[in-house]
Amino acid sequence: MNAQKLSERLAKVASYVPTGAVVADIGSDHAYLPCYLIHEGVAERAIAGEVVQGPYESAVKQVRQEGLTDKVTVRLADGLAAVTAADMVDTVTIAGMGGPLIASILTKNPESLTHVTRLILQPNIHAMAIREWAVAHQFAILEEAILEEDDKIYEILVLQRGDMKLTEAELLFGPHLMQAKEAPFVKKWTRELAQWRKILANTENIEQTASIVEKRAELTHKIALTEEVLQ
Ligand code: SAM
Repeated sequence: MNAQKLSERLAKVASYVPTGAVVADIGSDHAYLPCYLIHEGVAERAIAGEVVQGPYESAVKQVRQEGLTDKVTVRLADGLAAVTAADMVDTVTIAGMGGPLIASILTKNPESLTHVTRLILQPNIHAMAIREWAVAHQFAILEEAILEEDDKIYEILVLQRGDMKLTEAELLFGPHLMQAKEAPFVKKWTRELAQWRKILANTENIEQTASIVEKRAELTHKIALTEEVLQ
């Protein structure tokens, strides 16, 4: 992967960036995504935010190598602290982190989202945390995608401003993804189902403490939800 040729996962994220966007990519270790978006003429300008010194330096180096210092600004900052309202960022991408971390980044600096109309988020795990965040912060799901790359399954959520209500199943599986039921979706939830059934079996004959009983009830419920969706 490099700034000319992204991984399939990041290329999918890039495909949701509107033409002419001013983008902030948070957790931008090599600044590949912002550089790609400028090279492709998609983004007008971009900010690459990184909280760790080493990856920040890699991003700075990459932007210099690509000759894009006038278009891509690299900032060492925690999450959306890399962005101020004056930057006029309208699109934020956050990829390659857990859903709860992405949700906490979005919650921490609400003023950075002032001009933002689109969030493109790629959680590695627990996408549900992002859907919960969206419901609570008046963002609605515009599109969802799921893909498999290098034996890992990735979800991508595209959010825009607006109210939305989601059922318990939609929060867990994604309203668009559970309708489309594409092969990676079926694979992901079939794997989860097998794991949950195994845990349930392993906890059947142990002492039924209150926490075990609670955990088993939760698993039984999730198994039933998943079986219904996969039918
Ligand atoms: N976004 C790239 C991608 O999807 O390929 C890099 C993903 S890498 C696994 C996650 C990056 O996010 C790391 O470089 C890490 O230092 C950075 N990161 C984690 N928490 C962050 C935060 N709160 N603010 C900014 N960057 C963060």
